[in-house]
Amino acid sequence: DSQSQWDDVDRYLIDTLVGEDAALAAARASSRDTTAPGIEVTANQGRLLGMLVELIGAKRVLEFGTLAGYSMIWMARATGEGGVVTSLELEEQNAAIARANAERAGVGDRVDVIVGPARASAQALVDAGVEPYDFVFIDADKQSTPEYLRLVLEVTHPGSVIVIDNVVREGSTADADSTDEQVRGMRTALADIAANPALEATALQTVGLKGWDGFAIIRRVS
Ligand code: SAM
Repeated sequence: DSQSQWDDVDRYLIDTLVGEDAALAAARASSRDTTAPGIEVTANQGRLLGMLVELIGAKRVLEFGTLAGYSMIWMARATGEGGVVTSLELEEQNAAIARANAERAGVGDRVDVIVGPARASAQALVDAGVEPYDFVFIDADKQSTPEYLRLVLEVTHPGSVIVIDNVVREGSTADADSTDEQVRGMRTALADIAANPALEATALQTVGLKGWDGFAIIRRVS
């Protein structure tokens, strides 16, 4: 069926172009010990996040949703010397796993995993007047995405890039009548982006090991 073909092609592309070193493979494997096994990005998606970080020369990265730290490691490596990734995670169990994975991947000193509800953690960053972030990856509880986006606008600058995962959700986000709170969250976030003249955005559908889904890529222009 088409899902198994998409999986085969994803594996082919990952094996051919991307690969994972031992630390990334270990981080992915450790996801089984988290509260939500297997929902981290794929290696080719991780590389995309890393390349975007490198392309804009991002040194300061903010992430919503750490899990085992898989995407965090890709982004932390991409920030280079002096980079920092602040990652917000609800579950202490996941945060501990992610910190250990970051150590093993050689980026332990570049990551800061903050435990607690991301809304409160992000609000605390706003209140502390944190130095703005250059790149943001939103990948936590999907229904809260509009709130996360509002907070992100308080801690970014013109030129910052924001990526939101899971904006397609097997096509369900195109359904204006959906009562699924995760779908409604994504639709609200996309509408908010479209209504904000400070933001330029696109979104792309993807198929592969994560099923049928997609990323929104947003650039803050003012
Ligand atoms: N970005 C990770 C990666 O690709 O490697 C995957 C993150 S996973 C999709 C979502 C994470 O968000 C889970 O670890 C979950 O515990 C966390 N999460 C869920 N609700 C949250 C909340 N309210 N605040 C912070 N984190 C939350």
